[in-house]
This record gives sequence, C-alpha cells and structure tokens, in this order.
Amino acid sequence: MSTLEIRDLHVSVATEDGAKEILKGVDLTVKSGETHAIMGPNGSGKSTLAYSVAGHPKYEITSGSVTLDGVDVLDMTVDERARAGLFLAMQYPVEIPGVSVANFLRAAKTALDGEAPALRTWIKDVNGALERMTLDRTFSQRSVNEGFSGGEKKRHEIAQLELLNPKFAILDETDSGLDIDALRIVSEGVNRFSQQGDRGVLLITHYTRILRYIKPDYVHVFVAGKVAESGGADLAEELEANGYDKYTKAAV
Ligand code: ADP
Ligand code: MG
Ligand code: MG
Repeated sequence: MSTLEIRDLHVSVATEDGAKEILKGVDLTVKSGETHAIMGPNGSGKSTLAYSVAGHPKYEITSGSVTLDGVDVLDMTVDERARAGLFLAMQYPVEIPGVSVANFLRAAKTALDGEAPALRTWIKDVNGALERMTLDRTFSQRSVNEGFSGGEKKRHEIAQLELLNPKFAILDETDSGLDIDALRIVSEGVNRFSQQGDRGVLLITHYTRILRYIKPDYVHVFVAGKVAESGGADLAEELEANGYDKYTKAAV
C-alpha cells in the first residue's frame, strides 16, 4: 500500500508581470488501488498540478507538500521521482528527434531499474505493449513523438506506462484528440495498469467521455487552482449534466 499525498500546495509561474499564483492550496490524497478523476475547465491549473508533482522546473512551489509514503517528493530530482514510482503522461508530449521509441523506452527502463533490461524479454515486452496499443512494430524505430498523430502520442504514452509500471500514474488529458476506437484502446490500457493491483491513477480530464471506460473511485472538480468539490463517480454525471458553472461562479 502506497499513498501519494498533496497538502495545501501553492504553485506559481514566472510571467512578464512577475510571479503568478496558479495553484492555490491543492489538497488531494491518492492511495494505491484507487483511480481519481480530476475534472475542470480549461486554465484551472490541472496541468500545472501534474507538472508540479512531476518536478517541471518552470513551476515554483511556494508552499505546501507532496509526499509519497511520507517521503518528501518536492525534494527529489525528476529522476528520483520516477524511481520512487511516479509517472506523468503529459497533455502535450514532447518530440525527441533522433531518438527512437525503442531506445527511449530502453533508456527510461534502464534509468528506473539502475540496469539495462535483459534484451530478449525486453524486446518481447516492448512488442507486446505496442501491439496492445495497436501500434505496429515499425513504430519502435520512429523518433519519439515526431510526426505522431494525436492518437499515436497517447497510445505511446500508455505503452510506456505499461512497460515502466510505476506506483502512481498521472495522466493529463490522455483522452484529448482521440477518436472513439483509440479512446477505448487507451482506456483499456489504463484499466490493465490499474488492475495490476496496488497502482494509483490520477486521471486529469476535461470531458466525461473517458469515464465511460475508466471508472473512477473518486471525482474531484478542479476550479481556479484548487479542488472545489470531491465525490464519487456520480459527481461526473452531475458535471456532464450541469457543467462547471456552479463551481466557477462560486470560485470568483
Ligand atoms: P489546465 O491544464 O487546467 O487547462 P494549466 O495548468 O495549463 O490549466 O494552466 C493554468 C493557468 O496557468 C493558465 O492561466 C495558464 O495560462 C497559466 N500557466 C500555466 N503554465 C504557465 C507558464 N509556464 N507560464 C505562464 N502561465 C502559465
Ligand atoms: Mg488546458
Ligand atoms: Mg491542461
């Protein structure tokens, strides 16, 4: 059993007009075995939360804490966070020209484990993970994210998730830009991951449609830099029906 705990997190970014506070006291606890959906309007700070937990240097933590089983995550380097078991699938995955998917995955696995994976089983694992994401084998020779379609980027992220097998996955709008088939394939990948047992998922989304495939244990409404409301899966249905209005108005 593991616990990822975010307490009263305040985060700012540097802008031309000085520091701007984006996260204004986020409280969230995710335990292994749980799937949490974070839903909120554009610009509410959902990606900022994901990047802050993952350790992106652009985001300055001004107060609050993030701990993994009581250990301070904010004190860790990005690599240390990954080794501690945190994984972030970004809303806009970055292109890495000249680095093939195969080499990228192997380097990531090697960095996590401290040793290179045994080649024969690894190649089998990679091919299996790509296949389950309906990416063909030639995909592994392409440069990471270069010229990938929106759907290929997301399916590649989920193949990574499966291969790297973290304790906690933060999936930032993994559903955006997916057609209905890709949405189902990606969702099935996330479900396989969370059903491995003691895995935690923080699913950030703008739309409720992915929640037809991935059943969250908890739903959080994220507005103006913090959690405005938390509930069960039925909260997503309420949002589907009524939108974020009630919460955005209350936040002003
Ligand atoms: P969401 O993912 O919920 O759409 P974001 O976290 O991307 O929201 O953005 C929240 C707010 O923070 C937005 O107003 C955005 O413009 C601002 N913001 C995020 N990152 C930066 C940055 N690096 N520089 C300046 N402003 C930023
Ligand atoms: Mg957005
Ligand atoms: Mg975002």
